[in-house]
Amino acid sequence: CGIVGYIGHREAYPIVINGLKRLEYRGYDSAGIAIYDGQDLKVCKTKGKVSDLEERVEKEIYTKGTVAIGHTRWATHGVPNDVNSHPHYSNSGDLVIIHNGIIENYESLKKELITRGYTFKSETDTEVLVNLIEEVLKKEKGLKLGKAVQIALNQVVGAYAIAIFDKNKPNEIIAARLGSPLAIGVGENEFFIASDASPFLEFTKNAIYLEDEEMAIIRLGKEIKVRKIKDDTMV
Ligand code: GLU
Repeated sequence: CGIVGYIGHREAYPIVINGLKRLEYRGYDSAGIAIYDGQDLKVCKTKGKVSDLEERVEKEIYTKGTVAIGHTRWATHGVPNDVNSHPHYSNSGDLVIIHNGIIENYESLKKELITRGYTFKSETDTEVLVNLIEEVLKKEKGLKLGKAVQIALNQVVGAYAIAIFDKNKPNEIIAARLGSPLAIGVGENEFFIASDASPFLEFTKNAIYLEDEEMAIIRLGKEIKVRKIKDDTMV
């Protein structure tokens, strides 16, 4: 299973799809991608190989854009099928997430979210996490995405490498890790996110490896910020 993301000035799709191919050795049963083209967020996902995903993207959603996140899934919660594949949208359709790992307390979080009116399309633990982040954002108007992710992760028991994108804040990707590897490649006004450095080594040798319980706020035009998930002084 693997994660690849890009935000910068180049066309993101080929970088992410080739990156997913480099991570195939990690094993997976499904693959998916979200591409942001400056206006719209498009998602394509499928059970099967990265090459199956490539075919579907080109037929169904292909769009030029400079932000994309891609995923290969090794199913833990919910059978391998198209719906359970990542990325997962939040209920509003504004947030997308990719996740490797397990949210152990997803059932109780899901019950709570259902009482607040949330609905779920998939059987995954991951879709619970993206809606939990949305609920945190909804409760406190004006909250930054990074802070909302941090608050949500403090309610989560489990293991994860995640990347999250909000189409209302298109200059930013939030990444976090606990128990699954995550590397960030830093280029000239561009950033790469991946389970290991192989998807971005041809573009930059400058890599930051997140430690367990760290998150990164990756914003175009800014220095990357790395924070402890448990440090509640983060701004
Ligand atoms: N637990 C998540 C799922 O089953 C992520 C699995 C993975 O690590 O790819 O969808």
